[in-house]
Amino acid sequence: MNSSQPAGTSTGGLLTARVAPFLTLPVQPKLQVGSVDDPLEREADMTADRVMAGVPVSGPLSRIAPPANGHLIRRDAPAAQPVNEEERREFEAMRADFFRAAGERMSEDILGSAGFAEGPGGTHARPTNPDEALRVTTRWGVTRDILIAGVPKLSASIQGRVAAGSHGSDTLAARQQSLIDAMTSAGQQAYQDAIARVRGEPFWRNHLDTTTIFIFPDLSGANRYAGYTQEGTERSPDGTISKAFVIHISKDALEAGNLDSVVANLIHELSHTLDVGNVIAPSLDPFLNELAELLADHPDIQALRQGAADADEARQTHVKRIKQILYEHTGYGEKEVFAHLQQLTHQPSVTVDGTQVSGSRYILSTVEGYVRALQRIGIRPRTLSNILDALGRRTDMLYDRRIAATPQGSTARQRLVREKELARLTLSVARDLAQEELDATV
Ligand SMILES: [Zn+2]
Repeated sequence: MNSSQPAGTSTGGLLTARVAPFLTLPVQPKLQVGSVDDPLEREADMTADRVMAGVPVSGPLSRIAPPANGHLIRRDAPAAQPVNEEERREFEAMRADFFRAAGERMSEDILGSAGFAEGPGGTHARPTNPDEALRVTTRWGVTRDILIAGVPKLSASIQGRVAAGSHGSDTLAARQQSLIDAMTSAGQQAYQDAIARVRGEPFWRNHLDTTTIFIFPDLSGANRYAGYTQEGTERSPDGTISKAFVIHISKDALEAGNLDSVVANLIHELSHTLDVGNVIAPSLDPFLNELAELLADHPDIQALRQGAADADEARQTHVKRIKQILYEHTGYGEKEVFAHLQQLTHQPSVTVDGTQVSGSRYILSTVEGYVRALQRIGIRPRTLSNILDALGRRTDMLYDRRIAATPQGSTARQRLVREKELARLTLSVARDLAQEELDATV
């Protein structure tokens, strides 16, 4: 996404609000064996899995098989069952508790690794001014210069921030059609072909048929990302409001006939519409707010809204934008790893710095890059390792659904089974490479 991306997209802070898809994820029973030595970590890990799997919690977590010989035979995710209102509320409350506790712990880790003093109660001093906030964010790569470059100048008498998703009386469907119509005929054909290719896989066909998803071919030029997904609501003519996703893809890529890359991007973005298990972003949300509030009052940032007509509104705009930047340097990598590992099935070779790189190599190096970014956050290695394990399980889970939707005995199904293995290995190797890199710099 770029700086013109409206606030409140799915790459923003809305992750915690994503409840519905959570509860609709069919749950697959699975058996996992993991080494366990820290009960707190184990509890957090199990809770995370259940939260991620969208398992309604109607009993104590301790019902899960107890550890034996330092190993836990884990039988999480019992068969899906209808959820009543009370269970749903309980589940939401547990989820909130889980993220609050995880967030507190992560921010403590981060403050410790950023050198903040530990107080008598075992908690660290918090940043209290913009410079101290920068001490934290600089380790994520968010320096003063990065902030200044990324925060809009609001000094002029602005205004009219365009409300996200407001297109007058335009419906999303009409908007989609007008964007299609605005393309060259080659672009329009590529758009249809790309969607047909995605629909060629039964799982995605079914997903597109059962979820309200619009695909806007409206990105052009040098976007930092080839696509992004917004989550919002749509009001139908009879007034009912339902959940809808808008996936933005590159008009330029379509018109240039880069069908393969558009298909891979579509699989990536569609995976985001199903990605419900991120841990880092919802956990760190309060901490990022705290930092963004401090950073917005850095004199160099304040200068960017000097003389703005509505000072409070301008400040809020800056806080939001800063938070988005902080997010892009922290929890964002978690969901990107997930989407890239699904995109792997359709990833064509790409040219990087004039060199042709195979699709799987490209995904490997991209995933490695994100894992390294996650390591820089400052979460303790053990916790991050658990989070990446869970991410691997979530990856498997979506592959299993894709496989299950594909006719038994078909070549397509066999290939998906192998691609699931490839995705699993890709994550393992990326983690190894990132770890080696880390060890080498210590
Ligand atoms: Zn993405």
